[in-house]
Amino acid sequence: DEEDEALLGDEWEVTEAEPEEILPVLAVVGRPNVGKSTLVNRIIQRREAVVEDKPGVTRDRVSYPAEWTGRRFMLVDTGGWEVDVAGIESKVATQAEVAVSLADAVMFVLDAQVGATSTDERVVEMLRKSGKPVVLAANKVDGAAGEADAAYLWSLGLGEPFPVSGLHGRGTGDLLDAAMKVLPTKSEHGAARPSGPRRVALVGRPNVGKSSLLNKIARAERVVVDEIAGTTRDPVDELVEIKGIPYWFVDTAGIRRRQHFAKGAEFYASLRTQAAVEKAEVAVVLLDASQPISEQDQRILSQVVDSGRALVLAFNKWDLMDEDRRPYLEREIEKDLGQVAWAPRVNVSAATGWHTEKLVPALEKSLGSWDMRIPTGRLNAFLGELVAAHPHPLRGGKQPRILFATQATARPPRFVIFATGFIEAQYRRFIERRLRETFGFEGTPIEISVRVRE
Ligand code: GDP
Ligand code: GDP
Repeated sequence: DEEDEALLGDEWEVTEAEPEEILPVLAVVGRPNVGKSTLVNRIIQRREAVVEDKPGVTRDRVSYPAEWTGRRFMLVDTGGWEVDVAGIESKVATQAEVAVSLADAVMFVLDAQVGATSTDERVVEMLRKSGKPVVLAANKVDGAAGEADAAYLWSLGLGEPFPVSGLHGRGTGDLLDAAMKVLPTKSEHGAARPSGPRRVALVGRPNVGKSSLLNKIARAERVVVDEIAGTTRDPVDELVEIKGIPYWFVDTAGIRRRQHFAKGAEFYASLRTQAAVEKAEVAVVLLDASQPISEQDQRILSQVVDSGRALVLAFNKWDLMDEDRRPYLEREIEKDLGQVAWAPRVNVSAATGWHTEKLVPALEKSLGSWDMRIPTGRLNAFLGELVAAHPHPLRGGKQPRILFATQATARPPRFVIFATGFIEAQYRRFIERRLRETFGFEGTPIEISVRVRE
């Protein structure tokens, strides 16, 4: 494609990044193994092969820019999403629900060879409730003989099932035409920064002090009751001003309503955390400074990172800290919180209110990094120097050359590197480290993906 060719012609001679475009979001949902990823690859390969994504992070929901008949949109692949608990049915339903809530339209994929299962029917129910437009992909129809299987899916009541083969490409044109008909041209859910106060999720394992902290802040500070122009209010969110800056604390109803599930408590806590994090721009993850860092803490941190939200670490119950524990805590942090070493840290006490005002600079720092956009020219100058000083190691006599890089999005910062071959994970981590050293990015996850060009 011409534009890319032009860019690749002059390796480091690049144009400035385009202003952020807010593309409508099409989410691809369905049971595992129905062929979602195959279909997504088929659709995006029209432009380029995405070789690999987020290094070192569990692959969950991945967005790709896609194009069909001149229309650009974001395609969200929910393929590898796993909530590691409970039965398959709840997993699928949850995965689909979150993806759907963030999408403008949905491509629901079924395996036509298998037909509609009870899990599929639960997804249908959820789709109906969501009110989002849906196109039905009856996948694995590899030949004309399979079209009768697809026709059975009329019974789901979601309209015409489009027989397709993600594997061979059969029928995908008609499916995409149908998707373009229902996909709005403007996104309600793009990465646009909505005006008004920023959205904060207060998360952490049970008893870490979330509701205490919320109460403390809400009591000490002014709780803003009147509407701020241009914001839509969700009754489960609360507008709280700290040191003169108003923030939406999302899903505070969930924080205040204490949950007592015996079985599966952690599963529900994890869903609640996921929903709050998805709704927020930044998460304050509360940890108990008086207790060892737990696996559940780690999982919550991973949820925030994998969701691409900005992060602040708050060590609560500092009033219980005795000086003997201090060095142990520091060592634990170094050992266990390596994956979020870039996040700002505050020590607080929800019980006494000590240092709670320090949350503000930390929140603003993380959000600022999350919003940050490196102009393409600067980014390539930086990479040019980096690669000259530290070339990618030679493997089997070959050395991938980095041709060009761009920051595809902010919130969070996502970088795409175009290279002549596979870039090793270790080298990508090295690039990430240097990006952070050079440009800051304190408090935000960064994604680096690589696209291979001949
Ligand atoms: P996902 O879990 O829904 O993302 O499913 P995958 O894309 O990983 O596909 C699951 C399996 O179904 C893989 O073995 C694919 O090769 C196969 N598959 C996907 N699409 C088709 C298709 O159109 N026809 C056939 N026959 N197999 C397919
Ligand atoms: P949540 O489950 O995360 O909402 O935690 P809560 O706010 O309900 O707190 C759980 C327990 O920890 C309660 O008994 C709180 O009084 C106590 N707690 C919360 N924050 C602090 C703190 O900063 N210091 C001390 N000493 N106790 C705290």
